[in-house]
Amino acid sequence: MKSYRKELWFHTTHRREYINITDQVRSVLLESGISEGLILVNAMHITASVFINDDESGLHEDFETWLEGLAPEKPYSQYRHNGFEDNADAHLKRQIMGREVVVAITEGKLDLGPWEQIFYAEYDGKRRKRVLIKIIGE
Ligand code: ZN
Repeated sequence: MKSYRKELWFHTTHRREYINITDQVRSVLLESGISEGLILVNAMHITASVFINDDESGLHEDFETWLEGLAPEKPYSQYRHNGFEDNADAHLKRQIMGREVVVAITEGKLDLGPWEQIFYAEYDGKRRKRVLIKIIGE
C-alpha cells in the first residue's frame, strides 16, 4: 500500500468564502500516482469546512442565508466563546458543514457523482489556513 500527503493553503479575502477545490484535489491525486484507494480531504482549522455539493452560486447564497439564520455572526456578544475572539459563529458553522470528505479513487480518478464537487468553506478567513489531503491505496 502506498500513501501520499499534501497540504493546500488558502488565504481568503472575505470572512466567509466557498472555494471549489476539486481540480486541486485531482492534481494531488495525479501527483500521488495512486490509482485505486481512498482520498481524505479535511480542513485543518476549527472554523473552516470541507464538504461536497453542487457548484451553483444560488446554492452558495442559500448556505450563507441558512448558516446566518442558525448562527448569526453578529452581535458578537451573544456567544460565550467570544471573550477574546469574535468567531463563535464560525465554529458553529464549521460544525454543521463538516470537517472532511472521503472520496473513492477508481482507475486513477476521483469517483464522484455527476454533480459532486469538493469545496473548502471558510467561516473566519482573511488569514492563511490549510487543508490536508491524505491518499492511501496502490
Ligand atoms: Zn474561536
